[in-house]
Amino acid sequence: MSENAIDRLTEIFKRFPGIGPRQAGRFVYYLLRSPPSLRRELVDAVRGIAEAAKQCPTCFRYHSDKQKECSVCRSASRDTSLLMVVASDADLSSLEHSDTYKGRYFVLGGTVALGTDKNPTLRTKELLASLPMRIETGLQEIILAFPANPEGDATAFLIRNKILEATPLGFTPLGFKITALGRGLSTGSELEYADPDTLRNALENRR
Ligand SMILES: [Zn+2]
Repeated sequence: MSENAIDRLTEIFKRFPGIGPRQAGRFVYYLLRSPPSLRRELVDAVRGIAEAAKQCPTCFRYHSDKQKECSVCRSASRDTSLLMVVASDADLSSLEHSDTYKGRYFVLGGTVALGTDKNPTLRTKELLASLPMRIETGLQEIILAFPANPEGDATAFLIRNKILEATPLGFTPLGFKITALGRGLSTGSELEYADPDTLRNALENRR
């Protein structure tokens, strides 16, 4: 392996969220020290997601099922009266593992970025466009499940307003309400790292 190959992989790891140059370097040297089988496994796994992973056209989560829609959107046993809007795939995954929620999801793709112009592209339009279909299948409640921090609060405020703007008659005639997760989550905590009990409490105390 030339020095360039090492630098190249280090540069790629550096772009990962939360990974600095030193950690990126450690990953690369770990791979170099490991048996070749681990490097092959990594290459195969990366190729696997490149070939098989796709975004669900309904909730926008990433999945690698054969079907277009993800397993949650396809499942007939999920409660179509509940729609939970989450910021990220990681939050959705944490809620699924906590086994406390049986409704549908929508992945917004981030939260409002405060104090910067660099707002991530949020799928607000896609969410609004999906509402008529969801109302037809019995939507009764939209649960805003964003992190308990200022960005999460700003996102909840924005999404609530966008939904109300898009339904000029107000939500009562349309028959669904908008709630937010309760603050069983301590301030600043990310759903992604919350334990199942905390998530269950937050869900039960939604309002
Ligand atoms: Zn889906």
